[in-house]
Amino acid sequence: PTVRDADQTAVEDLRETLRGTLIRPTDEDYDEARGVWNGMIDRHPALIVQCSGTADVIVAVNFAREYDLEIAVRGGGHNVAGTAVCDDGIVIDLSAMRAVWVDPLARIARVQGGALWGDVDHEAQAHGLATPGGIVSHTGVAGLTLGGGIGWLMRKHGLTVDNLLSADMVTADGEFIRASEDEHSELFWALRGGGGNFGIVTSFEFALYPVGPTVLAGPVIWAADDTAAALRFYRDFVQDAPDELGTVVRLGPIPPLSVVPEELHWRPAVAINACYTGPVEEGESVLRPLREHGTPLLDLVSPKRYVAHQSGLDSTVLHGWHYYWKSTDLPELSDDLIEVLVNHAFSTKSPRSYVVLFHLGGAVSRVPGDATAYASRNAPHNININGVWRPDEDFAESETTWARRFFDALEPYREGVYVNFLDVDDDTRRVREAYDEQTYQRLAEIKAEYDPDNVFHLNQNIEPAG
Ligand code: FAD
Repeated sequence: PTVRDADQTAVEDLRETLRGTLIRPTDEDYDEARGVWNGMIDRHPALIVQCSGTADVIVAVNFAREYDLEIAVRGGGHNVAGTAVCDDGIVIDLSAMRAVWVDPLARIARVQGGALWGDVDHEAQAHGLATPGGIVSHTGVAGLTLGGGIGWLMRKHGLTVDNLLSADMVTADGEFIRASEDEHSELFWALRGGGGNFGIVTSFEFALYPVGPTVLAGPVIWAADDTAAALRFYRDFVQDAPDELGTVVRLGPIPPLSVVPEELHWRPAVAINACYTGPVEEGESVLRPLREHGTPLLDLVSPKRYVAHQSGLDSTVLHGWHYYWKSTDLPELSDDLIEVLVNHAFSTKSPRSYVVLFHLGGAVSRVPGDATAYASRNAPHNININGVWRPDEDFAESETTWARRFFDALEPYREGVYVNFLDVDDDTRRVREAYDEQTYQRLAEIKAEYDPDNVFHLNQNIEPAG
């Protein structure tokens, strides 16, 4: 049976069984409910179940299995490839499940499966605590965590997955289980980097650490012409950087944020954005060489609330704009690699397109490679080439061509990829690229145990072994 010939009674029964909301194509809020962060994604599911809790998730999985509906799972809806929504099938949408409970004494947060990073930071920072998350506060906790989780705090406290204590989840059979070091421990290993392949996580438990609430943070920005010099400086600067220092490089036009003087809006530039989570005075001396390098156009480093820094980039990547990404892990920044970056970064047509380069290392690289399924622990950097334009702008072709050419030029340097940065035209071979052979095989075996029919396949898919 399919949902089309599932009689109306079955769908009405489903609606009545749920405490959350069932949305169908004829409903007024259908278009809003099927939209995801990337406005390029335009899919039309038959049913959207906006779950109110675990019970609804179980009901939705069982209904989907009974009527053989393809399942898409939605957390924060941020995945650039749009895997949170499907055509024809059912979207099991957790976006109404955003509660966060913090135990400040045990330093643990329990976070529902549809929460955003801003929700977690807001609650945890009330106690001066945080866990490593992403660099944009409207990103979903679920998708980001299941793929690994990179951000400002990772060099000090590890990836998001390194701080995951347990996950409550609903399996492909509609069973509720908990995965942790003690229960379903192989599954727990797979959840930490293997993506949404193994079930629907209804809540996560994370370790928290004292962070801030005031940190020394912000970007130092130089003109695009100074990019090669800035990147050579950066290579040496991060070599001995303390774990308390997280940095992200951004190449592209300066966004028109209120903190940026108007004459610098849209000016092509290189920004080294920093977040120092140790004492502010210590940070002043750690960041001094960065701030004294060359002649910056702008220095926005200052003591600020950690939550303010965490949401500082939010308005540069708005929901509904069109996004096209290419990404790869990169080695140390050799002179010839820097030349490739300089030659390609600024040849975009859309003023919103940019490149972001993360610096990993620190605690990320000290966790043994086989401790979790995240397989890029030794990569010092990863780069994300982001073509961005508004739906009313005619940049689709220029920006996708730019991103692809740039990516092709990086071919000699490519070493793996972060699974959460894969986009629609990155085929399954690139999912393989995210894992070494041994890790992939282990993931495939765990997939065969927990989801042998590949019910959860709208994701960066691991095919069940055998
Ligand atoms: P969704 O689109 O809702 O889900 C993506 C996939 O995750 C789903 O298809 C499903 O397979 C799975 N999934 C979602 N919810 C669940 C659940 N409850 N249970 C099981 N599976 C689920 N990543 C970083 O590591 N660090 C960053 O700093 C960072 N910054 C980003 C900034 C922006 C603007 C964007 C768009 C993305 C960023 N990412 C970052 C990438 C991010 O990790 C992925 O986009 C991730 O998929 C987002 O998760 P989500 O829950 O919002 O996504």
